[in-house]
Amino acid sequence: MVQPQTLEIPIRGMDCAECAQHVQHAIAQLPGVEAVEVLLSSEKAVIRVDLTLVDMPAIRKAVAGAGNYSVPETAALAATPPLGGFSRRVLTLMGVVFGAVLFIVVVGEWLGMFEQLTARVPFPIGLALVIFSGWPMLRNVFRAALKRQVTSHTLMTLGVLAALAVGEWATAAVVVFFMRVGDYAERLTTEGARRAVKDLTAMAPQMARVERSGAEMEVPIGEVAVGETVIVRPGEKIPVDGEVFAGQATVDQSAITGESIPVEAGPGSRVFAATLARLGSLRVRATHVGPDTTYGRVVKLVEEAEAHRADVQRFADKFTGYYLPIVASIAALTFLITRNPLSTAAVLVVACSCSIALATPIAMLASIGAGAKRGLLIKGGKYLETLARADVLLIDKTGTLTLGKPEITDVITLNGLPEAEVLRLAASAERYSEHPLAEAVRVAAKERGLLVPDPQNFEAIPGHGVRARVDGSLVAVGSRRIMPDAGALPITAHLEAQGKTLVFLARDGELAGVLAAADTLPPEVPAALAAVRDLGVRHIKLLTGDNERTAAGLAAQLGVDYRAELMPEGKIAVVKDYQAQGHTVVMVGDGVNDAPALAQADVGIAMGAAGSDVAIEAAHVALMREDWTLVPDVFRIARRTMGVVKSNLVFTAVYNMVGLTLAAFGFLPPIFAAAAHSLPDIGILANSSRLLRQR
Ligand code: ADP
Ligand code: MG
Repeated sequence: MVQPQTLEIPIRGMDCAECAQHVQHAIAQLPGVEAVEVLLSSEKAVIRVDLTLVDMPAIRKAVAGAGNYSVPETAALAATPPLGGFSRRVLTLMGVVFGAVLFIVVVGEWLGMFEQLTARVPFPIGLALVIFSGWPMLRNVFRAALKRQVTSHTLMTLGVLAALAVGEWATAAVVVFFMRVGDYAERLTTEGARRAVKDLTAMAPQMARVERSGAEMEVPIGEVAVGETVIVRPGEKIPVDGEVFAGQATVDQSAITGESIPVEAGPGSRVFAATLARLGSLRVRATHVGPDTTYGRVVKLVEEAEAHRADVQRFADKFTGYYLPIVASIAALTFLITRNPLSTAAVLVVACSCSIALATPIAMLASIGAGAKRGLLIKGGKYLETLARADVLLIDKTGTLTLGKPEITDVITLNGLPEAEVLRLAASAERYSEHPLAEAVRVAAKERGLLVPDPQNFEAIPGHGVRARVDGSLVAVGSRRIMPDAGALPITAHLEAQGKTLVFLARDGELAGVLAAADTLPPEVPAALAAVRDLGVRHIKLLTGDNERTAAGLAAQLGVDYRAELMPEGKIAVVKDYQAQGHTVVMVGDGVNDAPALAQADVGIAMGAAGSDVAIEAAHVALMREDWTLVPDVFRIARRTMGVVKSNLVFTAVYNMVGLTLAAFGFLPPIFAAAAHSLPDIGILANSSRLLRQR
């Protein structure tokens, strides 16, 4: 059996959602293709294909056969010149030029200029002019027609033909002119969407300074290997993810976390690719390079975000497919009833299907792009749509709600064991655990200067604790539940009442000590939860594996519900319960020990995901830094985005309806219809660009 492979193939020439559909169809029809998703914004097709049945030249041919599209040779990959983007200036300039042209056309039409032109200049000359100026588009339409395909220009071309048929060549020429303007507007709109993603890629460093056999040399980023020493000078971008082993620097991590306040990095610190070393230099041992870095993952996931389409977009895509036949029928009816070829031409020309298809993705991509720059990785429009209507927020406690940096405050010894011994055993057993409590235990042992032996047979029991063999004894560390018959220890009740988490230690099946850990609640949490509630999320609940009393204290402090002493499966069950009752559930977790519950939730949000592959993979939305203000931000962005999507859709729908009606009843000369055709694209672009300026 040959395993199908996943290929990413760049595609050029796609200007609108219909184009993407054409390419998708063409590729899907090839033998050996199991699945294909064409991404308009990142200009590529992701294909699952059995390469024994089909080869690259065949794919290339199929893409070219679908219309005016191509698969560039790899060398030419970076060669597409950017068209400009979402910038205010470009939009303003376009508006001005467009307005001026429109003015000339209206005045011209009013003065009867076009009629005079038609009357004075012989028809063949006019015809030549029309064909000459509209050739690239007309050719595509005819080519597609030969393959029995329609494109977004097919209807307009029919309109042009109708005008020519009645000898109105000047009208046809103006329509052709506006076809090209409209084309440009569409390309600009699509490019604007791409831009949000491309800006992100542009932040990646290209070169790295490495130390090889004692000498420093600059090499392209692709040649750096894991484990190599990378040297970062002041003012340079760090090219890899890695661990600092020498030097000191102030690092601006905003490219990853969106946080503009720089952090101090020194020996032992983790640093991330694409972050900036201001003041000071560093020697870094590379742990991840290229696409494996946090930055690389974010870029890849943002590029792929388009594949997770929102339902509204699926609907719009489907509708676009029906729209062309609908318009064609309206045009046919218009002709049958009015017998007026110019009204018919106007109907064909005014309809703009592309803007319907673009109304959703352009807003989604703007938000996803803007989010990624601020440390919010949203993996698809689908999740924005879900977030906007979510009404339940479940919160994992340890490592998520609390900062994940608990401190050991008390050590209680039993069986006459010295305090230091309790800590030493616990720290050894916890050596390889990723749990925040494990880190607290290790820190406490380190602070007392204890020598911690390496454990054997380490075993993590999610939601419970750890087990390992230390100095020959079997040591278990964790919640009361993995303890042998711990019972109610009178000496610990007061600690729980203070909201402290108890970590029990057993040696060879006998309880040997208890550690108490105090967790700090980030100061922004109460306000963040209040904001989420104000955004319409009515049920907020704390989920924790911690004990009842600790959870109750914290929940009361925050004014939220809670469920305590939950196993990881218990958290999944709570999510499912809510879903079964018809709620839309968002869960915030650390993404490591609660990954299954995050995956089960309608939207799983991982907190502080920078540097954690697991968390970035597991969540639907990853917050790159531990900052609770980002949580209401995610809900806010989702709501704003859906607001823009809806206004885009309503705007295009109304615009098309009004345009079609006016055209059918002969109130809209084809010339104006053509001018009106490209307006919605510009409107959508301008409306959606508001999302790029998330505060
Ligand atoms: P939460 O649900 O609050 O995020 P977890 O599910 O991660 O907490 O863990 C539940 C409980 O299990 C913790 O409160 C703690 O008592 C115990 N526990 C889990 N892992 C460890 C560990 N590595 N060391 C000590 N205690 C642990
Ligand atoms: Mg947790």
